[in-house]
Amino acid sequence: MLKELFIGLSQNQLLNTAAKKYGLKLGAQTVVAGTNLPEAIQTIRELNAHGISATIDNLGEFVFERDEAVMAKEQILDVVRAIHENGVDAHISLKPSQLGLDIDREFCYENLREIVAAASEHDIFINIDMEDHARLQPSFDLLDELHKEYDNVGTVIQAYFYRAEEDVRAYKDFRLRLVKGAYKEPAEYAYIDKAEIDRNYIELIEYHLLNGKFTSIATHDDKIIDHVKQFVEEHNISRDKFEFQMLYGFRRDLQLQLASEGYNFTTYVPFGNDWFGYFMRRLAERPQNLNLVAKQVFTPKTNAVIGLAAGAFLLGRLTKRK
Ligand SMILES: Cc1cc2nc3c(=O)[nH]c(=O)nc-3n(C[C@H](O)[C@H](O)[C@H](O)COP(=O)(O)OP(=O)(O)OC[C@H]3O[C@@H](n4cnc5c(N)ncnc54)[C@H](O)[C@@H]3O)c2cc1C
Repeated sequence: MLKELFIGLSQNQLLNTAAKKYGLKLGAQTVVAGTNLPEAIQTIRELNAHGISATIDNLGEFVFERDEAVMAKEQILDVVRAIHENGVDAHISLKPSQLGLDIDREFCYENLREIVAAASEHDIFINIDMEDHARLQPSFDLLDELHKEYDNVGTVIQAYFYRAEEDVRAYKDFRLRLVKGAYKEPAEYAYIDKAEIDRNYIELIEYHLLNGKFTSIATHDDKIIDHVKQFVEEHNISRDKFEFQMLYGFRRDLQLQLASEGYNFTTYVPFGNDWFGYFMRRLAERPQNLNLVAKQVFTPKTNAVIGLAAGAFLLGRLTKRK
């Protein structure tokens, strides 16, 4: 229920637009590394100091106007320049919908191509994040076309999709990020049962570790992480063939621990004004993440206001009874 509510909220365009105007609110600042690029670069420097690499997401989705998509492209080109000029250890994650996939496919491709071309000049990798089912095949098509010219581009496979196994085989020669999947998908396309998703996830990870190029295992799940550690040990898989990834603001201790154990580690660092959809999906994933909101909403100040309001309400009821 809660998951559906937050996924629904994440797709609400009015709320997404409103949130852009009001800065980071409701606890989003704990999982979003600021609203501007210098703040994101500072965060990345701090991660790099701990031996952790970063993938930067200049937040944006649900773009239906061409000028918005062009603006997103310009901002991502700024990120490419900033990575290069600041010499930080980072690459870029982006979403096709942010670059105009829902407006016009060719227009989106041109925007993407410009970014991938600029990044390739500085040897910066571009990851095409995967969104919902409707955008899945169009995103693979964009990747196929880009890959004819560039090899600094890869994507994500979401384990909840029935087709994920086929996709991981078809894209084994790409650098892939493997995840469980964050959107709400119908049973027609995706496993709904958590145990089935986890089982499929492990199969995909094992396949790509054994047969693929480079694997990013993006999860906060201890069981999966422990399984991967054991699997690479048993199969003698070199540590430069894979990395762990987690989202900024989640399980910081575990992120530092894995990096200090000598595993390659990348933190996903989102920044920018368009934080609402991203934040709502994080709340959908794990009810405990609501603590992030609660800590912000229920401060001593708001508690006092809520207390006074409750007191006034009770007093009103008592005086009416008299
Ligand atoms: C770097 C990165 C990039 C991603 N990119 C995409 C993408 O492009 N497309 C997409 O659809 N999805 C993406 N996702 C989201 C992903 O699909 C999952 O929705 C998300 O990671 C939640 O699943 P999980 O594997 O972390 O574990 P879950 O299934 O959420 O949790 C499993 C178990 O892990 C433990 N756990 C989880 N979180 C915590 C925590 N914060 N603290 C303590 N224990 C915890 C708990 O024991 C929990 O029961 C990405 C995730 C990451 C980390």
